[in-house]
Amino acid sequence: MNVQPTPDSKDWTWVLGSVCTECGQDVRALNPGQIAGLVRGSVELFTSVLQRADVRERPSPQVWSPLEYCAHISDMYQVMNERLELIINQETPVFANWDQDEAAIRNNYGGLDPMLVAQQLSDSAGRFAGALESLNDQQITRTGYRSNGSVFTAATLAQYAWHDAIHHLHDLDA
Ligand SMILES: [Zn+2]
Repeated sequence: MNVQPTPDSKDWTWVLGSVCTECGQDVRALNPGQIAGLVRGSVELFTSVLQRADVRERPSPQVWSPLEYCAHISDMYQVMNERLELIINQETPVFANWDQDEAAIRNNYGGLDPMLVAQQLSDSAGRFAGALESLNDQQITRTGYRSNGSVFTAATLAQYAWHDAIHHLHDLDA
């Protein structure tokens, strides 16, 4: 039987309005420039996770392995970078839906080469951080919508993305 983790359908946008009750992080005061530095710094942490001997082992059938979480973060930085480009280049764009659990299966996260994931994560983190660093004051307040109606500015998109990364670093004890 092919057991897959239960899809996480929770709407995590609440972490933009309060401290996360699961990881204890508060991303509300972080600006895009600060988040760019944190995103760059996360590469080393995720790379060390990817070097673990048990990187392919799920703690339980319903929980992603460290490899699957790292592949998710690599894709997440890429998706958030694309959303940031839309916010900058279009008037109030609506982002295409990103089903994280479907992406994990379609892209075979669990079967990937950990060192390839480390390289991809480094690349996608670098691109996202570079885009955050180049935002000007007008661009920071531009908005876009998720397909479920949640509104983001460039600044809150950065906060949301960083929470996803730090939350999983917390889960991974990294
Ligand atoms: Zn959290």
